[in-house]
Amino acid sequence: MVKKAQYPIGFANSLSRRDLLKKAAIGAAVFGGMSDYVLADSDSVAKPPEYDFPVVDYHVHLYHDPQKAADLSKSRGVKFGIVEHTERGYNVEDDTALKKYIETLKKYPVYIGLQPLHVGWSKNFSVELLSQLDYVLMDALTMPQEDRSWRAIDSSNFRVNDKESFMKKYVDFNMQILTTEPIDIFGWTTFLPKDIAEDYDALWTDDIMRMMIDTAVKKDIAFEINESAKVPKLKFVKMAKEAGAKFTFGSDSHQGIQAGIMTYGLELAKQAGLTKEDMFVLKPDGKKAVQRFFKKKEETS
Ligand SMILES: [Zn+2]
Repeated sequence: MVKKAQYPIGFANSLSRRDLLKKAAIGAAVFGGMSDYVLADSDSVAKPPEYDFPVVDYHVHLYHDPQKAADLSKSRGVKFGIVEHTERGYNVEDDTALKKYIETLKKYPVYIGLQPLHVGWSKNFSVELLSQLDYVLMDALTMPQEDRSWRAIDSSNFRVNDKESFMKKYVDFNMQILTTEPIDIFGWTTFLPKDIAEDYDALWTDDIMRMMIDTAVKKDIAFEINESAKVPKLKFVKMAKEAGAKFTFGSDSHQGIQAGIMTYGLELAKQAGLTKEDMFVLKPDGKKAVQRFFKKKEETS
């Protein structure tokens, strides 16, 4: 059985949005006297018949046991892709843990993914095991600092002092992940910390968006439409669709309460006219991002 996720409180000196979402959901479950997974009312459940693609939530974290996630996926009619973090203090930090994670999840009708937080994570694993994953998802929320520490920019106490200089570093970091990390899905696309979230349209200029989109298309990385942060916005999605980018939906649910509920994502998909051709599909064996990455590394070494 996979251990309950252990999220180190105080990680990166603060509670991140990931932690806060978890806490909020625990509160809801406790005060409501409900079970671990709280079913949504039928109106808020995705209705796939309106769309020509199956709705998949590629960003679901395990909170209790995988059976509950599988049951919830079935009841919501949405396929789940499970992602756990790889870093120290989380569940999946080395080959032994990764093997156990994959073996456990294989018994359930879910996709098996991974969500590393720190750049350079792949060196902790063997390509043989990574190849058994269905996909890898990574976001740009865990930013390296000058003193070599990391900050979660979605945390409640993260402050942006200088908008311009933050944006420059953040865009560089987005590009670093898109160009150097072996990932299939780029999570939390165009997220901004709360101090500057209102300036979204001004800060994500056409040039920056174009640069990220062209890179993702070239590197065959799909953009996540993130349900909890409600990003990216319509303009980005339209521009990316036009350029041939692929998309995924992700709730980033840690309790199951939001898992599979794609209200923002499906509305955006409708507005941008996304069809089956625009949606990410899992790569066949041999073509996964980790396999392409290790092959290239081998060729150049
Ligand atoms: Zn996540």
